[in-house]
Amino acid sequence: MYNVKSQKAEEFIDHREVLESVRWAKENKNNLELIDEVIEKAKLRKGLNHREASLLLACEDKSRNEEIFKLAKQIKKDYYGNRIVLFAPLYLSNYCINGCVYCPYHAKNKHIPRKKMTQEEVKREVIALQDMGHKRLAIESGEDPVNNPIEYILECIKTIYSIKHKNGSIRRVNVNIAATTVENYRKLKEAGIGTYILFQETYNKENYEMLHPTGPKHNYAYHTEAMDRAMEGGIDDVGLGVLFGLSEYDYEFAALLMHAEHLEAVHGVGPHTISVPRIRKADDIDPDAFKNAIDDDTMAKIVACIRIAVPYTGMIISTRESKKSRETLLNLGVSQISGGSKTSVGGYYEPEKEDEDSSQFDVVDNRTLDEVIKWLIDLKYIPSFCTACYREGRTGDRFMSICKNLKIHDCCHPNALLTLKEYLEDYAKPDTKAAGEEMIKHELQMIDNSEVKSVLLNNLEKIKNGERDFRF
Ligand code: SF4
Ligand code: SF4
Repeated sequence: MYNVKSQKAEEFIDHREVLESVRWAKENKNNLELIDEVIEKAKLRKGLNHREASLLLACEDKSRNEEIFKLAKQIKKDYYGNRIVLFAPLYLSNYCINGCVYCPYHAKNKHIPRKKMTQEEVKREVIALQDMGHKRLAIESGEDPVNNPIEYILECIKTIYSIKHKNGSIRRVNVNIAATTVENYRKLKEAGIGTYILFQETYNKENYEMLHPTGPKHNYAYHTEAMDRAMEGGIDDVGLGVLFGLSEYDYEFAALLMHAEHLEAVHGVGPHTISVPRIRKADDIDPDAFKNAIDDDTMAKIVACIRIAVPYTGMIISTRESKKSRETLLNLGVSQISGGSKTSVGGYYEPEKEDEDSSQFDVVDNRTLDEVIKWLIDLKYIPSFCTACYREGRTGDRFMSICKNLKIHDCCHPNALLTLKEYLEDYAKPDTKAAGEEMIKHELQMIDNSEVKSVLLNNLEKIKNGERDFRF
């Protein structure tokens, strides 16, 4: 029985409710009166529930679809302006005891090189990342209680935060590790992590169990209820995501929003971010074997409808997407991207030779971070390395209330300029620096608040003179 407030996965992601939502949406996909009603509600920019959003996803009417895309762009602009936050994944270890059939790190893959970084190697990687200009990382690790116990993860986080190389520093470590206990989540919280991210992979229980045949991850309920345990452990920023291609996309979409509604109903705060990865080619993995793989147009519609349904939730895409696809999705709602990523263990310090490849998936967007920054600036997006919120205690419901009132812009915009300025001073190539300085000049003219402008100008000058780490 569907119960948004239940603590049981099979009740808050009730299979029948998901199927019924998808069926209802399909049945009404040409019901223009109903679609118009939902679009009108969406224009209030307060979000939609999973049924309403599913209807927009299913809508086949050309002019309504144009309206949906237009609205997604407008909401993106209202909540996120023209800022894009940058991050990089850091793979600590690819030892894994699970059997996920879509991931090359699955335990039965005997030919992929297994690696686990020592603290010295973590340090080398972090210095390489700092030298690129990164300030925000998402650490990734396979699940293996012997090789990658929580103590190892905590030690790595400590190492990462401790490294101050030249003007570099990693100011926010987000964590993407397997579902764990409340006690371990509490330890992660104490270690000062930003967001805890866990992809559901697929919400369809039957498919989930088939795709995760062995290992602790096989337990659907334990995995799906992980965010509740994380929040119980004190982590108030959590990131959801599905791997599109594993099950039917409309099922995943409705269930993903039901998960967001559940977190909001039980904990008073929805997901901080939603990631939208698609299945990609990798060692031992052929994406063509997954009949639910989605094309670019479907991906764009999904991103637009998520943007409309949960305006206050950040949306993330990785370098699994091509430059062209990233450009489309940025416009429709994505607010965070990775840049210059390596998806192998130790790949930043020393790029791997082909026969030593330990990558989790093939990176499609292979550009350097500086190329990504220049590209963003040329597209008139402000690249932001901001990490201010959690360092200022703006997390969980506090963050959400500022965000829902559209007040976060007053912090994000000046912070984006401050962190861009740091990047330009410390890491940018000459043409990126010139374009970035022009952008800062232009953006300064957009600031009406004279107090903010004066503090900002003052701090930009201090950055030019060598000081770092200012924030609103
Ligand atoms: S997806 Fe994660 S848990 Fe599954 S095999 Fe890959 S690393 Fe292990
Ligand atoms: S001010 Fe907060 S919400 Fe805005 S970019 Fe910085 S960390 Fe993100």
